[in-house]
Amino acid sequence: MSELHKFLFDGLPVRGMVVRLTDAWTQILQRRASSGTGAYPEPVRNLLGEMSAAAVLMQSNIKFNGALVLQIFGDGPVKLAVVEVQPDLSLRATATVVGEVAADARLSQLVNLSNLGRCAITLDPQDRFEGQQPYQGVVPLFGDQREPLEKFSEVLQHYMLQSEQLDTTLVLAANGEVAAGLLIQRLPSGGINNLSAGQSANEDEIGRNEDYKRIALLASTLKPEELLTLDVDTILHRLFWEEKLLRFEPLSGASAPRFACRCNRERVSQMIRSLGVEEVESILTEREDVEVGCDFCGQQYRFDAVDAAQIFKPDAGTVPGSSLLH
Ligand SMILES: [Zn+2]
Repeated sequence: MSELHKFLFDGLPVRGMVVRLTDAWTQILQRRASSGTGAYPEPVRNLLGEMSAAAVLMQSNIKFNGALVLQIFGDGPVKLAVVEVQPDLSLRATATVVGEVAADARLSQLVNLSNLGRCAITLDPQDRFEGQQPYQGVVPLFGDQREPLEKFSEVLQHYMLQSEQLDTTLVLAANGEVAAGLLIQRLPSGGINNLSAGQSANEDEIGRNEDYKRIALLASTLKPEELLTLDVDTILHRLFWEEKLLRFEPLSGASAPRFACRCNRERVSQMIRSLGVEEVESILTEREDVEVGCDFCGQQYRFDAVDAAQIFKPDAGTVPGSSLLH
């Protein structure tokens, strides 16, 4: 079962988290495999798994009351990869792949062929007031010298440093059974609440705290195979046996990260309405139904001429929140 473990280093301004997505991850993969598009090529699967683990870590790190959406807009065969995590850690993920993907494709070959790929992190408040825009941060997929980054963890480390002014070390890994991640972060000097309050930490400390540097160095020795195959207790003991860890009760079972899709017929109706009546009528002259499949869960929605007429009735109400469905 999927699990999330949080811990602090006693007396030090450093915290950490380990996530292991098992059932949540295999469900995402199985739904994709049984959909019309078929299973992901392995490098795409592993990237989406790393993104899923990272998005869960980020959502639990900021305790934000709304969806955290992690996206890559790629300029290679992967056009889009999306992971959405709700405050209760339910998540869904999907990727759009066009063309061939080599079995050994690196990150830049998947999403950053011309150095134009982007990674976006969106925080979409649960109860948005009218006109309120979700917060979005965008980072490129290259480093300080414009060199393409080959690890997704490096992209996010850049983002955390830029947007939150927080030193962060991430180790991510995924295969067909597990998507896992380790996050180590220097606590903002004002305390844990700094991040959610949107204040920036003391910038002078960035990259300078000796305790953080030592622990980050230990964390970075964790190999992807270890992260994928070892249980959390073993991982933490191997890495930090000389440190004093304060462990929190892990989130497992019903409170663990899990797969859940938020699509429903109303949201799909809204999407169909946005196509416009002419487009939909033209589809219905060629076939009996307008058929829409959810990219996240594979659910098929069908609308016949009667349903369509209902959707385009002048008094049909609008349903908000359909922007993520495409
Ligand atoms: Zn769905």
